Amino acid sequence: MKDQLLTTIYTLFTDWNSSKNIACCKGCSACCTQNVTMTALEGEIILRFIHKADMDKWFAEKLQENRPQHRPKMTTNDFARACLQGKNVEIGEISNQAPCPFLEENFCQIYPARPFSCRMMISEKTCSTGQPALIPGHYLAASTAVSQIIEHLGQKEYWGNMLDILPALCDISEHSGTAQHLNTTIMMQARMQTLTAKPLPGFLFTEDEDQTVSPLLNTIFNARIDGKRIEDILNGK
Ligand code: SF4
Ligand code: SF4
Repeated sequence: MKDQLLTTIYTLFTDWNSSKNIACCKGCSACCTQNVTMTALEGEIILRFIHKADMDKWFAEKLQENRPQHRPKMTTNDFARACLQGKNVEIGEISNQAPCPFLEENFCQIYPARPFSCRMMISEKTCSTGQPALIPGHYLAASTAVSQIIEHLGQKEYWGNMLDILPALCDISEHSGTAQHLNTTIMMQARMQTLTAKPLPGFLFTEDEDQTVSPLLNTIFNARIDGKRIEDILNGK
């Protein structure tokens, strides 16, 4: 059910996003760094994709050779909760610009299974060394709200840097295909580096951003999985 819910959210977000005027195109990959964060739920989808594609050995080597240098100190929902409580907070160091290890010749090798952080990345101008991604504020507010919903869906499970979440999940027997090529110390260290996904404390978008964000959230909350509204499923009904 959770997988189905997540892929439905991916589809609804992609449909909402498809009319945007953006510079992103196939083979453009300057945004593919080692700063990607995600939930365990998204990691499970990647590991299943890898095993099905018979890429376990290649994938384990990539995880082994690329350990994260920087990690967020809090999850998006932790950050949102602190902001809503009026606290001064820092989200942590996220400045590692090293290329994502799953990128080969500028193409993502796990593209169909990539997590939401990758799906939400856009720019109105082509990125380069001197030109960081130009992301419209309303778009950022909407995509952050969706990433909060995804964290809520994955609550109580791992949340963190993609390069920690993936090895951390390899002690699950379903992922033994990748685990058999992976050093167990890395799996153990990765588990210790993960945070825990938290429930949604509320959203951070402003009244001005509401016009952009609310229609997307309403579409997501009112979509149905097996006859049940997504909002009701997220609320445990
Ligand atoms: S965000 Fe920037 S680097 Fe990434 S695909 Fe779009 S234009 Fe290219
Ligand atoms: S997983 Fe794919 S889309 Fe995401 S950063 Fe890595 S190469 Fe880019």
